[in-house]
Amino acid sequence: PEYISVSDLANALRIKPRMFLVDLEQLGFENIVQDSVMTGETAALVAAEYGFETKVDTGDGRDLKPRPPPEDPFALPPRPPIVTIMGHVDHGKTTMLDWLRKSSVAAGEHGGITQHIGAFSVKLKSGKLITFLDTPGHAAFLSMRQRGANVTDIVVLVVAVDDSVKPQTIEAIKHAQNAKVPMIVAINKIDVDDDPRRIDAVKTDLASNGVEIEDYGGDVQVVAVSGVTGRGMGDLEESILTLSEILDMRAETDGMAEGWVLEASVKADGRAATILVKRGTLRIGDLIVAGKTYTRIRTMKNEAGTDMKEAGPGTPVEIYGSWKQPPMAGDMVLQAPDETKAQNAVEYRQEIADRANSAAQQAQKELADREEA
Ligand code: GDP
Ligand code: MG
Repeated sequence: PEYISVSDLANALRIKPRMFLVDLEQLGFENIVQDSVMTGETAALVAAEYGFETKVDTGDGRDLKPRPPPEDPFALPPRPPIVTIMGHVDHGKTTMLDWLRKSSVAAGEHGGITQHIGAFSVKLKSGKLITFLDTPGHAAFLSMRQRGANVTDIVVLVVAVDDSVKPQTIEAIKHAQNAKVPMIVAINKIDVDDDPRRIDAVKTDLASNGVEIEDYGGDVQVVAVSGVTGRGMGDLEESILTLSEILDMRAETDGMAEGWVLEASVKADGRAATILVKRGTLRIGDLIVAGKTYTRIRTMKNEAGTDMKEAGPGTPVEIYGSWKQPPMAGDMVLQAPDETKAQNAVEYRQEIADRANSAAQQAQKELADREEA
């Protein structure tokens, strides 16, 4: 974020600095002096108190921005729902994903799955596509959330019947609730224990942790499954389809593409990034910017390692290219119309980062000097 000193902000708002300090104290700021710095976000809030509207500096249009939201989302083509599997460690997330992967029509068509990227699309017997994500890393999730982005439409919360609600279960519940993402609960490992009393005990634990499950009058579906034997997995798919019909997700398939970096890695054949496309369609040869780096798309593969020519909304895809620096999980991906635009955006972002760094360093130095004095 950008930083601004109190005196600069006072000037911008055309208020006498000493008056400004009094006002700031009334707003609840403590130990504040003219040289104190605040983030751009805080400054914008303060400015709003004085009736000012703040505009984000886009560097004379040098930065790339996502398109404005669609005017009529319901006029757009449907896209596959994006489902994130979350839950406590060892409760069976990966096992469940593996089962879904193997059961998918695509897996049969391509003669088995070769890779283990944490995102893939499954074609159900009905012909409908669902995209599944393994829980992304915490930092990546936070980064996407901070930009108000929900990568996921639905959270499937996995709870092992023999372990019930655990700390990471509660964390996942909070995440889904904060992000306002609807949840489906999969009570897993029923091949080990399918005693209805045990299943009910898990439901009670969920309810007492704020999950409004159907049995208790809420609208969160609960299914009992085994990721090992596949028992109940059809019901889980059914529940996901029911919910996604209600949610009715749609997105543009044309225009400049947008998405998110889910994972980044270095492979034998170059730098790769798993990208989830959210809007538009990515094609080989397209230029994409992610954070402070960009590349032209050299090749794209799905999770089965099959080459893809294009990837539309709701599709996870592994992209290979000659990134100048590696992209990072959680970076927003934006297609650039030409190389100059891509380069300008990356340079602008670097400048902003450098400025923020030196402002923070300056602020720390001033603080240290003052403590010495
Ligand atoms: P994750 O940490 O949530 O990804 O959990 P894993 O999928 O790695 O599973 C943890 C352990 O539980 C592994 O030993 C799995 O074989 C086992 N497991 C997962 N699902 C089931 C299940 O439905 N039944 C049984 N019996 N074991 C399971
Ligand atoms: Mg796992």
